[in-house]
Parts: sequence; structure tokens; C-alpha cells
Amino acid sequence: MAWTCSGKTNVELVLNMARAGLLSNTRVLEAMKATDRAKYMRPASARYAYDDSPQSIGHGATISAPHMHAHTLEALEPFLQPGARALDVGSGSGVVCACMARLIGGADTGTGAVVGIEHVPELVEWSRENVVKDGLDASRVTFICGDGRKGYPSSGPYDAIHVGAAAPSLCDDLVDQLKAPGRMFIPVGTDTQEVVQVDKDAEGNVTKKTLFGVMYVPLTELDKQLNSGRYS
Ligand code: SAH
Repeated sequence: MAWTCSGKTNVELVLNMARAGLLSNTRVLEAMKATDRAKYMRPASARYAYDDSPQSIGHGATISAPHMHAHTLEALEPFLQPGARALDVGSGSGVVCACMARLIGGADTGTGAVVGIEHVPELVEWSRENVVKDGLDASRVTFICGDGRKGYPSSGPYDAIHVGAAAPSLCDDLVDQLKAPGRMFIPVGTDTQEVVQVDKDAEGNVTKKTLFGVMYVPLTELDKQLNSGRYS
């Protein structure tokens, strides 16, 4: 079925995902159409920019498959409204941050803020360049180099948190940094992984819902990732 979701252009890829039922929210569709995946690819895999598959971005990391970005953004969309604050943990190429920025704040909506936290310094630098190449004002996404498992409390609490790598267990620090109400999308597990949607209600009560099985790179220590040789 993957062939139905490729495209010759970014817009074609996104529309094909919508036709295949992988994407239905109009705001997410528009944000993904505006965020050209080719701007977030390494030259060696540029020809796969509009394929619905993950691709290596070096340093043991991958840019996730577009349908995973669609699922993430659709799950978080109610919390990615104009003016919201969002955190992307393991921001890698920066592509999810760019979509989040397009969902939560434009020049006219003002106060929304996106923070991407990534532990590979080279990826942090590269993602900063990517969002600018993709036409976003650099001030709309703040990329931080650090251990995403601890989150980034000084810019929180966050309406929405996306974790782009699989955590061995739910990260309490990230749950703490969710606003009430707020939502987190986090893959959890090692050999087998599942996406868990964590909701915090207006009173601060936390509930968890398992969404589906996935296979992500691990949320881990930097040296383990660089020495794993598994994904590069
Ligand atoms: N959403 C990103 C996913 C990148 S892959 C994209 O589509 O481009 C997951 C990322 O998590 C990698 O870039 C990896 O370097 C990063 N990562 C893994 N463990 C981390 C940690 N403890 N802190 C911060 N980033 C981490």
C-alpha cells in the first residue's frame, strides 16, 4: 500500500496520504503541504523525499515516515491551536517542529512557541538551517541541544509534547511539563513499542491510552546512539 502514498511532489505525497485515509484533519493537511519534506533530507536520500518511508539523517537518527508525522500531528492537533506552546523531543531534522509552528502560530497569531530538543549537536544546527530553508522565520522554532528525556522546563508548560524516539518507559519529567489540559504523544518500549497518548485534564489528572504499535529509534544516551551502528 506504500506506493499509493508516494508522490512526485510534497503536495502530491500529502494528498495521496489523505486519499489513503492516513490523514483527514484539514489544518494538519495544510501544515504538511506547506512543509516540504525535501528540505529535511540528506542529499544521499533526497530522491526518497516524497516516499512514505523513514530515511537516515545520519548520527544514528532517521526522519520518520510522513504517515507517522500525520498520525502525530492529528493526535496533537486539538492542542496545537494558535498561540499554543509545543515541545518536540528528539527533533532530528526539524520537520515536526516546522509543522507544529505552522499549526500554532503565524505572524498574525503572535505568541505560539515551538521548542525542539535534540542531543546530537550537528542535527540541532542542521535543523535550524532546514526550517529557514523551508521558509519559516527562525524565531518561530527554538532548537535546544540537550537530553530530551528531561524536557525543557524553562519554556513550559506545554499544550502539546511530541516524542520522536522510543522511551523505555513514560518520562515523568515530560508528563510534569504538560499543561493542564495538555497532551503528549510518546512511543514507549524497547523490542516492541507502542505509541501512548498521555492526557492531562484541566484539574491535572493524567490518563494514558495506547494508540498503535511502532518502530522508532530509541530515546537514549548520546554515546549509546552514536555507537549502536544500528540505524545509520
Ligand atoms: N521527528 C524527527 C525524528 C528524528 S529520530 C524527524 O522526523 O526528523 C529521533 C531523534 O531523537 C534522533 O534525532 C535522535 O538523535 C534523538 N534522540 C534520541 N535520544 C535522545 C535524547 N535522550 N535526547 C534528545 N534527543 C534524542
